[in-house]
Amino acid sequence: MGELKMGKYDHSGKIGILGIVYMLIFGIASASLFGMLYSYLIHFIPFPYINFFITLGFGIIVGVATGYGGKLGKIRNNKVMLIGGLLTGIIALYCSWVGYIFVTSGSEIWLLNPASILTMAKVVAAMGPWSIFGITFKGALLYFVWIIEALIIVGTSTLVAMAYASNSIFCEKCNKWLKHKETISHLEPLKNLDIRIKQFQQGDFSSLYGLKKAKSNVYTELEIQHCHLCKEQYFLTVKLIGVNIDKDGTEKKKESEIVKHTTISASTYNHLSKLKK
Ligand SMILES: [Zn+2]
Ligand SMILES: [Zn+2]
Repeated sequence: MGELKMGKYDHSGKIGILGIVYMLIFGIASASLFGMLYSYLIHFIPFPYINFFITLGFGIIVGVATGYGGKLGKIRNNKVMLIGGLLTGIIALYCSWVGYIFVTSGSEIWLLNPASILTMAKVVAAMGPWSIFGITFKGALLYFVWIIEALIIVGTSTLVAMAYASNSIFCEKCNKWLKHKETISHLEPLKNLDIRIKQFQQGDFSSLYGLKKAKSNVYTELEIQHCHLCKEQYFLTVKLIGVNIDKDGTEKKKESEIVKHTTISASTYNHLSKLKK
């Protein structure tokens, strides 16, 4: 086995030629489609608690669509994804306002100019259209609700778009994302963790080869990935997981990553694959 120094996968920062185009097409398409649906749902469902989750869901959908487009366009850059999600989140907010004015006006007013939308918002805030549980939302209170709504949509879209491909691995040689990941779970916990980590840093993963099945709620989980095309890129993630079961039966999982997306040799990969059986 070669003296392999521990390397770690990180996005190269590169962007496919059509990356930004794909990211924006998917993000904007979802923002306009679901923006309209969102306005109807918010208008006809008068429960703030449910509305909160609908708003969150809208932001997540736009973020996922943006991230999906970006990944399809081979964007290996979390910052570009973040800016994309921010942009499409703002467009989603805009679409929700176009829809909101359309729905609340009884399908009569279709405003596309942001300046006109702002003017209309001021009028609506002065009148106070929302009456829930005997509270009329208008003026400052209504602005407050709108700001929270805007933050949820734009914030969720931004974070989700950024996170979407952040845990994926791209093979720069083959110009492709790695497709699948193999998980080998419920292996016994590592003993002498400090020493193991030092060995990992030397490229020595042999302490993992003989791991048996875990007998307790604390266990090691391995994720191995490789590029099927060049068969030159192999990666390993090692997690230590503890599961606690509360008195009421709910499982609580605690995870810590010992190494993440570490480069391993083909021979290490083959040894680890055998643990699946
Ligand atoms: Zn495979
Ligand atoms: Zn490859």
